[in-house]
Amino acid sequence: MRAWDAVFVGGFAVYVVIRGVYESRCRGVGSRERHLDGRERALLAITAVGVVLLPAVYLLTRWLDFAAVVLPAWLPWCGVLVMIAALWLFWRSHEDLGTNWSVTLEVRVDHRLVEHGVYARVRHPMYAAIFMFSIAQGLLLANWLAGWSAFVAFGVLYLLRVHREEALMLATFGDSYASYMRRTGRLWPRWGS
Ligand code: SAH
Repeated sequence: MRAWDAVFVGGFAVYVVIRGVYESRCRGVGSRERHLDGRERALLAITAVGVVLLPAVYLLTRWLDFAAVVLPAWLPWCGVLVMIAALWLFWRSHEDLGTNWSVTLEVRVDHRLVEHGVYARVRHPMYAAIFMFSIAQGLLLANWLAGWSAFVAFGVLYLLRVHREEALMLATFGDSYASYMRRTGRLWPRWGS
């Protein structure tokens, strides 16, 4: 295994631990509304291919050698910085969202609209963190297919989910979410409003 591959695996392990800790805290929290339909399942499956399957095939076999690239020596260092920032934001967004988190579109029994912490200026900091992690993957793995598969797969999930998620939040929280939307950006802070 290349040294940068090992760095990626280490970062991915931290990502999985963070997700596991917060997922276990949400276990047993009741659900009022859950939209895990065929489309959501398909999006989660596509994401799993890009985030887990293709990197695993790259790391464990030589099948993706046709997509090998030579990265400039400085590029993976940028990947490490992006990965550290991504893991920090991933942790903070889980911490701020608490038991309102779900892997799919869901409203919990006691769902609260979170507007503090990393949610104060950005509506989707967790998705921003996952995008950043996907970019780090592309900067660390010397393979264009395994490197950028998560970015493309998660991009599809994001584009097809974000409007539905915001519609669900609007239906649940009404004017509070509408005014929250005016104050915030989707992935990037809206300053000066
Ligand atoms: N899109 C958010 C949350 C991802 S988890 C982010 O990227 O940070 C997905 C769940 O979070 C959805 O089921 C939705 O019910 C919930 N959610 C999204 N934004 C929320 C908010 N501001 N407050 C509370 N719950 C929220």
